[in-house]
Amino acid sequence: PRGFSSSATAGRGGQGVVNVLTSNLAPFTNPSEKDNRAAVVLTRGEGVYVYDTDGKKYLDGLAGLWSNALGNGNERIIEAAHAQLKRLAYQHTFWNRTTDIAEEYTSRLVDFGRHRGVVQTFMSCGGSDANDTNVKLAWYYWNAIGQPSRKTVIARKQAYHGVTITASSMSGMETIHKGYGPLPLPWVRHVSTPHYWKYGLPGESEEEYSARLAKELEAVIVREGPDTIAAFIAEPVMGAGGVIPPPRGYWGSIQSILRKYDILFIADEVVTAFGRLGERLGSEFYDIQPDLYTVAKAMSSSYYPLGAALITEKVADAIKNQANKFGVFGHGYTYGGHPVACAIGLECLNIYEEMQIWDHVKRMTPTFQLTLKQLETHPLVGEVRGEGFMLAIEFVADKASKSQIGTKVPPATILANECMKNGLLVRSTGHVLVIAPSLVYTMENFQEMFTKLKKSLDSFDEIVYKELPE
Ligand code: PMP
Repeated sequence: PRGFSSSATAGRGGQGVVNVLTSNLAPFTNPSEKDNRAAVVLTRGEGVYVYDTDGKKYLDGLAGLWSNALGNGNERIIEAAHAQLKRLAYQHTFWNRTTDIAEEYTSRLVDFGRHRGVVQTFMSCGGSDANDTNVKLAWYYWNAIGQPSRKTVIARKQAYHGVTITASSMSGMETIHKGYGPLPLPWVRHVSTPHYWKYGLPGESEEEYSARLAKELEAVIVREGPDTIAAFIAEPVMGAGGVIPPPRGYWGSIQSILRKYDILFIADEVVTAFGRLGERLGSEFYDIQPDLYTVAKAMSSSYYPLGAALITEKVADAIKNQANKFGVFGHGYTYGGHPVACAIGLECLNIYEEMQIWDHVKRMTPTFQLTLKQLETHPLVGEVRGEGFMLAIEFVADKASKSQIGTKVPPATILANECMKNGLLVRSTGHVLVIAPSLVYTMENFQEMFTKLKKSLDSFDEIVYKELPE
């Protein structure tokens, strides 16, 4: 294929795949697999479809990385980017300088979050660096108001907050820490994943389970000393950890513990902001009141790298009032508030507001969630769970013990591969299959997804049962 070195084209060929991918060290790919696992090469996109080098068409069931909310080829976004590139391709927002487009967009972003207390933004290029920013804001806040001992951040196991050193430290996944020596950094603690189906005790109600997790959080705070805790960070619905919506009562109980000990709450809404749960913000869906929000992904519908920290009054005021203590606010990315990113973000926001895209998601959610929930009757499906346009199918060998299926290739990967053969892109985390379509999916798109998934499940059964012991 065009653009690849000759070594890249060696191997299986056909089906838009190559065995070795150029000079790029592929993210979240096992480098030792390069000889037996082909890479898919995509070249073109149209709405919710993408095409590989052989022209094969795929329905994108993951919106890129839960991010390409409006699909590819949106002329309004392309035009906004083009016009901005011609007018002013780049200027920064450092040293009291800014651009008209950065000002217009950030004020619109503040308006977007104002009903949840947002008064200010800090612009980044994606989710990880926005999370780094939020940790720095939390530390700055405590230093500013005279409680410099507050440094520890409490995160959760299985959380995904990105891969900068700060974000990977807060992420609660072994894959992200393994091989990196000092990760996670020592100022992070991880509490339990709120997954009732998996970790609830026999006879324990969802509410009791949530109360138990809140107690666990409180115990960690007390053990560490409340005056050492800066912030708690969490995704409203855990995403990359396997789409885990919180059990009933969870957010209420957690939030009251955070209030009791005056701990800042950072909501990592990189996946959930801008409509994925059927509300503007995921925090709105669960009625939680964070002090800081992290947003990215759908912010630009992934047409450009873009992220932000959304800052509420309490933190914004403390930073502003303490200017004499620390002088300049010593933080900023060259591409934070990039004019083209802002023009794209602004147009996305215009489109979302015009479409009321969150209402579309809310209307389509029952079709998506309830249709696929029926897969729980499959003998190897332990749980189908989700909220809005986020869904996971978890496979088990035995429903009662929830033991894992011991196939050589993990079950969700087998299914994801079959889906790909049938022209549907989804994601496997091993035993969990994740689906998170773009926010403009129509009924026809969902029907196509269901048909392709069903067909793929038929071949999945054949493959898996052949390998499983009787
Ligand atoms: N937080 C969450 C909840 C995410 O899902 C992601 C990305 N999947 C990130 C942070 C990191 O964002 P980025 O890859 O843009 O740095």
